[in-house]
Amino acid sequence: MVGRDMSPADHQDKEVRAVLKRLVAAGWTLRKEGHWGRLYCPCAGGGCSTIPVPGTAKDPGRAARRIGQRANLCPLPEGDPRRALSGGVVV
Ligand SMILES: [Zn+2]
Repeated sequence: MVGRDMSPADHQDKEVRAVLKRLVAAGWTLRKEGHWGRLYCPCAGGGCSTIPVPGTAKDPGRAARRIGQRANLCPLPEGDPRRALSGGVVV
């Protein structure tokens, strides 16, 4: 992991803020990385999934739904090819 922890409240779009709040409450970690931030899932062993969070989305509702859908894939089963050996996967 890189970057500092961030708060879901730091995001400018309310739809994205809502999904970030829900995931952070569920144990996901939000860190400053890339264009805005990245979510790390709470799975043991470094997590199975990471989700990039755009800072500015043309369609915030769509971006929020996509983040939620990606989060629903967690936990990826052992042996899933989307599961990376380290640092999770970009799904
Ligand atoms: Zn996971």
